[in-house]
Order: sequence, then C-alpha cells, then structure tokens
Amino acid sequence: MCAAFPEFRLGTVLATSFTGTLSERHGDAVERIPTPGRLVDWLVVSGLAVDSCTEAQLGLARELRESIHAVATAAAAREALPASAVQVVNDRSTQGRAAAVLTPEGQRLWRLGSAARRKDTLGMEDTLGVEDALAVIAADAIDIVAGERDGRLALCASPTCRAAFFDTSRSRTRKWCDMNTCGNRQKKARFHANEGRAAGPVE
Ligand SMILES: [Zn+2]
Repeated sequence: MCAAFPEFRLGTVLATSFTGTLSERHGDAVERIPTPGRLVDWLVVSGLAVDSCTEAQLGLARELRESIHAVATAAAAREALPASAVQVVNDRSTQGRAAAVLTPEGQRLWRLGSAARRKDTLGMEDTLGVEDALAVIAADAIDIVAGERDGRLALCASPTCRAAFFDTSRSRTRKWCDMNTCGNRQKKARFHANEGRAAGPVE
C-alpha cells in the first residue's frame, strides 16, 4: 500500500523537510503527503508521532507548508516577507502545545500536548496532536528565517524545483535542495549536453 505513494525526501532541517513534501513546484509537482495517513507517516519519521489525522488537519498542514515555503523563499531572495504567510506561520506556532523534553541520554524529544492529555481524557481531544506537531514545524521555520540558527537560506538552482533549503555547509555554497535528486539531475543534464549535439534533443 505504501508503495503507491511517493517516497519522502527527508533532510536534516525540519521546516524545509516539510516544505519538501511538495517537490518540483515549478515542474510536474509531486505531492508527497496526498492523504492524512501519509502526513501521519511523515510526522512519525520526523520525530513528531501522532496517532491520527483528519482531512481538515491535512489542510492546515498544507497551508502551513505553503506559507513556510513563501516566507522562506522571500527570505532567501532578501525580499519583504508576505504578510499573510507570516500570519499563518505565527498562528500555527502559537496554537500548538508541544513541549521539548530531554532524555536521560541527552537527546531532545518533542512531547505533543495530546499525548499528555490522553492519559486523563480518552477521546475528543485525541486528534489535536497534529496541531501540536505543526507548531513545532512552524517554530523551526521561524528559527531559520529569523537567523537564529547557523546556516543560510537559499533557493535550489533547479529551474523546475526552486525549493527553499537551509544550507549548513561550511562554505555556504550549496546549489541544490538535495544532491540525490536535483543535484544529480543537473549533473546528468550537463553530461548529456557535453556529449554533443549529434545525440539530438535531451529531455
Ligand atoms: Zn531542488
């Protein structure tokens, strides 16, 4: 069943991994969280496990995703941040109830509000976990746009992608959102171009 869905592209930065769930925005866009269940899967592998997700919550998640994308793109281009997108990011950030907790091994985990509530009140509030998870993602986006973390926001050099990504390389000269996909494709295109025109047009 899972094989029917596009795979995730997971990066090391939560907010831009999340915006990467829609890829090739300027080409044949690939939606990697097409169903509520796939959003649950993505949250689980991203350290924000929730039990369930509704269509409405998936809608909130996609709205946040596109808002982060818009804000990060503007920030990377040194342009004014779009006010409506900033509002969405702020709303999601302030409306969650996640808490960072430290493990005995010194690792940070996120405890979503519903996980605590569920012990007392089984039922109704159970599905609020998605909002809590989105708050963590929104706060991560705020961190990187506001320059609170070491790195540089940049836009992928692939013309069909143009994803905003967070470059933490030492030289800050990364060109592609992902070496295995966009970077590789670019390399192949250059290789074919160098092979000579006799081969005919290249896709
Ligand atoms: Zn890219």
